[in-house]
Amino acid sequence: MCIRIKSWSAKHLFFAGRLTLVSSVLMALQNYWAQIMILPKSIFKVVNGICRSFLWKGTTDSSVPGKVAWNTVCKSKKEGGLGLTNLRMWNIATMGKHDYSPKSDDSWYWRAICQIKDLMKQHITENQLMAISKYSIKKAYLKLMGPAPVQYRTTAVWGRLGQPKHRFIIWLALLGRLNTKDRLMKICVTTDNTCLLCGIAIEDHKHLFSGCPFSERCWHQIGLWLGIRCTRNLPELVNWLHKRSVTKFRKEVIYAVVMCTVYHIWKERNNALWNGQVCKVDKWASPLEKLGCKVAC
Ligand SMILES: [Zn+2]
Repeated sequence: MCIRIKSWSAKHLFFAGRLTLVSSVLMALQNYWAQIMILPKSIFKVVNGICRSFLWKGTTDSSVPGKVAWNTVCKSKKEGGLGLTNLRMWNIATMGKHDYSPKSDDSWYWRAICQIKDLMKQHITENQLMAISKYSIKKAYLKLMGPAPVQYRTTAVWGRLGQPKHRFIIWLALLGRLNTKDRLMKICVTTDNTCLLCGIAIEDHKHLFSGCPFSERCWHQIGLWLGIRCTRNLPELVNWLHKRSVTKFRKEVIYAVVMCTVYHIWKERNNALWNGQVCKVDKWASPLEKLGCKVAC
């Protein structure tokens, strides 16, 4: 895993690229071994550490924690995660397909495999287990992961028309995990929590993406083009858009515009932080105008 990661790291992959590699290559390597043996917890800890390090930092040995907890990352996209596999639960689900009663003279390892069913019952009830008529690893895995509330807002994050970098920023913004000044102040990185775009309020997620005068101008402009009112805060806006009865394609386009807007508000905030400049709304928003007009028509 580490050798592969080192070859990828040299290519300066963006987050979306690293996520694809973790999901399709690193997790697949692990899944292979998880299907043929019971892996110790220490293995999961090491593998999760490598995947986490590569996903957030692009290296194999970063000890810096990620922006989002690994348990959340391993939830499905509908539940607010990135859809990565919880390796421990996957191992239990794959080994749980063996349903035999071990004999007393069987090897300790075979007895351990047969005891996986008991381990599964710690996470799901026997009735739920029996409800899986024909054993399916995926069904057992989903049962082990348990039900989680569906986050409608995440539908907006993973719309097919959104750019990967826009998806990443809005995902963090909806989870409240961007490094806004209020969060930086809590960990003593800064002593000033004033909004960089307006200089009159505390910079937190709610203010930055909805209450800030700069953001309000952005959303007003976007709302005019799209023919909607964007006066809600970001999570409410996304949930409201989800419930609107418009065509699927139009909704996808609106999501793409919202994602783009959030990305550029965050970009302007960073521009103000590092360069001391704030771009005019019209300048960066003009490319969206044509797209918005087409949708509104
Ligand atoms: Zn502000």
